[in-house]
Amino acid sequence: MKGAAWPVLVSACLVGVRCRYDGQERPSPGVRRLFEEGRAVAVCPEELGGLGTPRPAAGLEGGGGVEVWQGRARVVNRLGVDVTEAFQNGAREALRQARECGARRAILKQHSPSCGVGSAGNSDGTRIPADGVTAALLRSEGIQVISDEEFENP
Ligand code: SF4
Repeated sequence: MKGAAWPVLVSACLVGVRCRYDGQERPSPGVRRLFEEGRAVAVCPEELGGLGTPRPAAGLEGGGGVEVWQGRARVVNRLGVDVTEAFQNGAREALRQARECGARRAILKQHSPSCGVGSAGNSDGTRIPADGVTAALLRSEGIQVISDEEFENP
């Protein structure tokens, strides 16, 4: 990310916000540093979509984030509730905030059904080789997305 334009959009759980489904955070030292330096804007798409914290774990069903936007897959939570619309609303809001702050890159939490970059959580508890709902939207809108794992271990 050296020489990148700032700020970057980042997953809020990476900077210490307890916004995960289980009420926990997943801080990434490097991403947290960017945030503390004022070079990152933190968003949690699932909270932005109106889902509370803690909330039932959710996963993709029938495909990845790209297929969700094509209407060919969905997101369901552990209780069997379809939360696709909340995930899409949160992704749109994350995109809006990226545009508002001028972010052209995003560092997102790997393996999440929202934020995962090339690996996202499936409803059966496995991981599938696909972007999450937010990562897919940001990528399709020309924002470079990388995972926290790529950022920490380039
Ligand atoms: S991975 Fe994304 S949606 Fe999940 S808690 Fe972190 S910021 Fe929120």
